Amino acid sequence: MSEETAGEGNGILSEICLQCGGRCCWNANPPLTEQRMERMSTEGMPAGALEFAGYRRLKARDDGFCVLFSEGRCLLHAVKPEICVAIPFTFDVKGNMLEIFLRKGSICPMVPHLLGDGEAYQAQYDLAVRNLLAFMRDVPEDELREILTIEEPETIKVGEVPLEGVLRPRTPAPVPGH
Ligand code: SF4
Repeated sequence: MSEETAGEGNGILSEICLQCGGRCCWNANPPLTEQRMERMSTEGMPAGALEFAGYRRLKARDDGFCVLFSEGRCLLHAVKPEICVAIPFTFDVKGNMLEIFLRKGSICPMVPHLLGDGEAYQAQYDLAVRNLLAFMRDVPEDELREILTIEEPETIKVGEVPLEGVLRPRTPAPVPGH
């Protein structure tokens, strides 16, 4: 299965991300599903990169950056968490709807570019939705509840996607170190 990453096939988006200096990798602690954790582990995720805070997530270093952030890049860009691939889109869940939000241009320089290029916007939106739905399919319900308490104030709602058939009853996944 090929991996999908932000800016895939679009050098301008990759360039914008490089010049930004990784603001979305600061204070990020992206949540990880069991499936993504295993995928990243086989690609060299360092031991001790994970922690549990009501859900499995990547740790941040003392300087606030994600443990996988190095020299302006994600060390595991090709297999990074679905939540990271979706940026600058993020999500909430209301009832049986996945709500899609877009970060404001003041906190992500990719946003003004996307808003000025309808084709690039649609491509990144579709990529985000595919990855967020994959995340929703795999994340344990109790961890999702905790994740949904995280505030994302600098965003505006830009879409909705039905979750019919995506969420299903699941048994809690084992937690690393527990
Ligand atoms: S996993 Fe990679 S893209 Fe996601 S926050 Fe960490 S360094 Fe950034």
